Amino acid sequence: MSISDRFTELAHIRDSLGSLAADPSRVVMEKILSPTEAMIAGKPTILVGTNNYLGLTFDPDLIDAACTAMTEQGSGTTGSRMANGSFFSHAALEREFADFYGVPSAMLFSTGYQTNLGLLMGLLRPGDKVVLDSHSHACIYDGCRISGADFFAFKHNDAEDLRKRLRRLGPDAKGALVVAEGLYSMLGDTAPLADICAVAKEYGAWLMVDEAHSFGIYGETGRGLCEEAGILDQVDFITGTFSKSLASLGGFCVSRHPEMQLLRYGSRPYIFSASSSPANIAAAHAALRAVRDRPELKEQLWANAERLHAGLSGLGYRLASPPSPVIAVRVPSHEDAARTWNELLDSGIYVNLVVPPAAPDGESLLRCSLSAGHSFEQIDRIVAAFETALGGADATRPHAASAG
Ligand code: PMP
Repeated sequence: MSISDRFTELAHIRDSLGSLAADPSRVVMEKILSPTEAMIAGKPTILVGTNNYLGLTFDPDLIDAACTAMTEQGSGTTGSRMANGSFFSHAALEREFADFYGVPSAMLFSTGYQTNLGLLMGLLRPGDKVVLDSHSHACIYDGCRISGADFFAFKHNDAEDLRKRLRRLGPDAKGALVVAEGLYSMLGDTAPLADICAVAKEYGAWLMVDEAHSFGIYGETGRGLCEEAGILDQVDFITGTFSKSLASLGGFCVSRHPEMQLLRYGSRPYIFSASSSPANIAAAHAALRAVRDRPELKEQLWANAERLHAGLSGLGYRLASPPSPVIAVRVPSHEDAARTWNELLDSGIYVNLVVPPAAPDGESLLRCSLSAGHSFEQIDRIVAAFETALGGADATRPHAASAG
C-alpha cells in the first residue's frame, strides 16, 4: 500500500467539506488581539469558539505568574516527574487542587487528554468493566480501549439505560467503572449526575466524572457539575483540563481515595511524558485562584450565555440545549453548515464547525462557546451575523420542511 493510499480516507474527509474558501484546518489567527478577538485573513474577527470560558488568557495575574515562572524556573521541565523529579510548582498546584476539593489526592498530567488516558490506563485491567456515556470524549474511549477493559456505552444522559447496562453485568457490576462528563462540549447539555451517581452506587460501581467543560463554571464555588449535583462526597474520580476555564495547558485528577496517588507508579502517560512547563503550571495556578476568588467571572459568562441563547432562539433556530456556555445551532446538512460557517467567518465571526461523526445525532453543528470576556455588544454582533448568514440556510429554521 502506497503512502497516498494510506491517506485516501483523510483526503476524502477534507474533500467532503467542499470547495469552500476556508475550512477549520486552514484558519490561521494572524494576531491575537484579546481573549475574544483575533485577526483572521486580515480582518478583526470575534472568537466564539475558543473554550476560553472565563476569558483569562490575557489576564495580568496569569501573564505575570507565567512570566515569573519562566524567568525563575526556565522554559520547560524537559522530562517526566518520575524520571527527572518534580518542580515545587507542580507539587504546590496539586496541593491547591486537593485543598479546593477537600480530598487527599490530586495529580497533574500534561494535558486533559493525558489525564483521562492516564487515569483509565492506570486504574483498569483487561477484563474490567466500564459503562460510559455514549457521547464520551475520544480520550475516554481511547483510555478504555488501551486498558483492555470491556466497555459498554449507555444512552447519552440516560440514567435508566445505565441501570439496564449495570443490571446486565450481573455480579460484575460491583467494582465496574461508570464514566460521565459534566457539561458536554458539542451539544452544551449537562449530565443528570445525581441520578447517574445514585444508580452507580446502588450497584456498587465507581464513578468518574470529566469536568473538562464544567470546571470553573458550575457549582457554587466553581468546582463543577459534581458540586452543583451535590455528589462531591460520592464521586470517586474527577478529571479536568487546564485548557478551557483555566486558560493554560495541562490536566488534573482529584479523588477522595488516597490510593489514587499510587497511579504515579503505573500510569504510562504520567511516567513516560514530560510534565507541563513552569509557565503553564503558574498560569493554571493563577487561574485556579481566580476561580476561587473572582465569582464575578462566572456570573458574566452566564449573563453572556443567556444573551446569546435568547438572541439565537429569538431568530427561530434550533438550539441543541437550554442556555449554557456552549450553544450549538443544529444544521441538518453538513454542506449548509460548512457554507454558513464560511459566511460567518466572512462577516468576522469565528464559531466551531462540527460535522458527523464528531457531531452526535447525525446533524452538523455551528457551535459557539461563550467567554466572560465577551461584551454584550460583541454578542449582539454575533446574533446579527447569524441572522444574515443563516438566512441562506433556512433548513436550520424550525418551519423548514427538512428540519422535521
Ligand atoms: N475531556 C473533554 C470532555 C474534552 O472536551 C477535552 C478537549 N476538548 C479533553 C478532555 C482534553 O483536554 P485537553 O485539550 O486539555 O487535552
